[in-house]
Amino acid sequence: GTGRGTTSNEGSGRRPAVAVLTSGGDAQGMNGVVRAVVRTAIGAGADVYAVYEGLQGLIDGGDAIQRFDWGSVGSIQHRGGTVIGTARSVEFRTREGRLKAAANLVQRGIDRLVVIGGDGSLSGADLFRAEWIGLLDELVESDRITPDLARRHSHLVIAGVVGSIDNDMVGTDMTVGADSALHRIIEAIDALSSTAASHQRSFVVEVMGRHCGYLALMSAIAGGADYVMIPENPPPPGWEDEMCERLRAGRAAGRRDSIVVVAEGARDRDGAPITSQGVRDMLEERLGEDTRVTILGHVQRGGAPSAYDRWMPTLVGHAAALEVLEAGPDHEPQLVGVRSNRVHLTPLMDAVEATREIPRLIDAGRYDEAMAMRGSSFTEMVRVFEGIAQVAPTDVAPSRRIAIMHAGGLAPGMNSAVRAAVRFGMSRGHTMLGVRGSFQGLIDAEIDELAWGDVDDWLAVGGAELGTGRSVPTVEQFYAVSRALENEKVDALLVIGGHRAYESLHRMLAERDRYPGFRIPAIALPTTIDNNLAGWEMTIGADTALNEIVSAVDRLKQSAKASRRCFVVEIMGRYCGFLSLVGAMSVGAEKVYLHENGVRLADLADDVEDMGRSFRAGRRFHLAIRNENASVGYTTEFLCQLFAEESGGAYDVRPMVLGHLQQGGNPTPFDRIHATRLAAYCVDWLSTQLDAGTHEWGFVGQRDGRLATLPFTRMPELVDPTFNRPRDQWWLALQPVMEAVAVDPTH
Ligand code: ATP
Repeated sequence: GTGRGTTSNEGSGRRPAVAVLTSGGDAQGMNGVVRAVVRTAIGAGADVYAVYEGLQGLIDGGDAIQRFDWGSVGSIQHRGGTVIGTARSVEFRTREGRLKAAANLVQRGIDRLVVIGGDGSLSGADLFRAEWIGLLDELVESDRITPDLARRHSHLVIAGVVGSIDNDMVGTDMTVGADSALHRIIEAIDALSSTAASHQRSFVVEVMGRHCGYLALMSAIAGGADYVMIPENPPPPGWEDEMCERLRAGRAAGRRDSIVVVAEGARDRDGAPITSQGVRDMLEERLGEDTRVTILGHVQRGGAPSAYDRWMPTLVGHAAALEVLEAGPDHEPQLVGVRSNRVHLTPLMDAVEATREIPRLIDAGRYDEAMAMRGSSFTEMVRVFEGIAQVAPTDVAPSRRIAIMHAGGLAPGMNSAVRAAVRFGMSRGHTMLGVRGSFQGLIDAEIDELAWGDVDDWLAVGGAELGTGRSVPTVEQFYAVSRALENEKVDALLVIGGHRAYESLHRMLAERDRYPGFRIPAIALPTTIDNNLAGWEMTIGADTALNEIVSAVDRLKQSAKASRRCFVVEIMGRYCGFLSLVGAMSVGAEKVYLHENGVRLADLADDVEDMGRSFRAGRRFHLAIRNENASVGYTTEFLCQLFAEESGGAYDVRPMVLGHLQQGGNPTPFDRIHATRLAAYCVDWLSTQLDAGTHEWGFVGQRDGRLATLPFTRMPELVDPTFNRPRDQWWLALQPVMEAVAVDPTH
């Protein structure tokens, strides 16, 4: 809807009024938070204001504080930066400034505030909250507000959301903007490595992060760098020699380019800064090779938000709006973040304090404690990176033979997982084998040893170099499979794939005692764009598919700007609606049709009504997303015909089947990082089995928030066999969030 959404009882003081602002450094995805806060609050019956130019706008008042309606935040989710502006405000640091801010809020009846920013903005806002009563008293004393107004708004309720590309906040897995920044960095590193490879060149890439090595470490992993320098974990004394040696060995093993990633705040053990220029000079001098520095700077903040930086901000923005609307006056302010894809609340100032403790620990040289505060998976990724970045010695005997193969549909990130498994396995002294062509390839003994250099450029490319297949071996084929495993002296098996990989292993396990070749440990690593596997919440490939969907639909929306149009976009996923629902959240669709919900004629009739009303009210675009198997009879074609027939000429309707586009594409940073992490986990788990002489089979899962291997005996309990999807699908809880921001309830 357009037009200002004013209400009859405005000014009565009974309707809650919420304001939202963005402050500090901008970050992609802030718009998504603003959109979700505004729409959720409107849906909950509140008046909503946006404050322009951050905390400074609170002080300036006037046009800087604007009433927003549903349409005010239309078409902003896909835009980088923050449409309501941000600033650093010197004045807000003064009590005088905050007094003006309090006057501006209370005069509008606003006593609930969602602040999106870094630790500075959040602690500034918390100070403001703590002073609120005193500020109002002062305003009453100086006759700037009435005692009655002060009494009606005696508490300021705030909630914080972290917008920061650095991912530097304790209390949330990810800050808004960090994933998009990784996208920008990886685009740059991919581009650099292709030019570096043509000239056998070295690049030193400097990324943001004064106190936080997240972007540097993760981009080193996702970009296939040789070496990384981060503030929390300075390199050991003598690192210069070690780095040069590693780069030399990499070249000897077939690498054509060398890449060193340096966080802006990198330092050595004595606290002396390590600069990208310093590293460059050193490399050029010692290796005698052309070495260039690329400082990425502000491009990391720029560009369109990634898919994750659209749906995650929607989730936290929705929760932050509810938080300020539901919190009582004495409620401790919360940081609204995410943990394992769910909203996670942390007392705001605890999170800020813990975050600020890390730079202090770094300055004091207490690096182990600083690392510990970054969390166990961060520390784990440092170890994984060390395992895969250096050329493994090949003369370790006796070595075990681990075979790697694919099964099931293609998923971006399969190659990344193989590369990591090969390198990590070699670092543990194993011989790594690649099976070409899935189970048929195994039967045909299409098995080669993979060397460190063979997989060098597999990290960043989509598809599956080893090939995959959808066939599940039959019981008649088990004998041949077993023979092949014996002939090739395979000691352990890693199957990287989707539902068919799981099904194959599960069936083989049932017959294991009859086949000597099966008496080895085996594990399945989840890769599929469908995200329909039990045990793991975000399969490798799903994030890439979401980003493909987002970029296709962004273009589709642009193409439709000139007309009144409804698009029905058909999304893959088999019987799992993950891509459809989370895709719909990410592109701002009005409606989503899932198999999990079914499609009913009565609902379609309502949808036709809603659509007609919104087009008549001036909307130019309506986006409906339909999972490919949402309904047998009500196909994409059928929906289009129905909507067109009922349009009365007010709009036209087009189908758009995204199809295999969703399986293509190069893996996103997220998929590369997780492919690497899971591959290292699988190799570790197989190694433990080999050392113990046991032969368990399982698939990657989680226990108490940590990686774990789940036994195949749990499959019947976890998987719905009719539709091959988990019985419990965590993302279905996102449905109310999607609905709260999709359609204006007041229309
Ligand atoms: P980034 O992480 O991107 O730097 P930030 O929110 O930490 O974001 P800061 O510059 O530290 O950025 O803070 C933003 C604004 O918050 C400041 O300009 C100031 O107006 C306000 N602010 C920060 N600290 C305080 C404080 N202690 N008291 C009052 N206001 C503060």
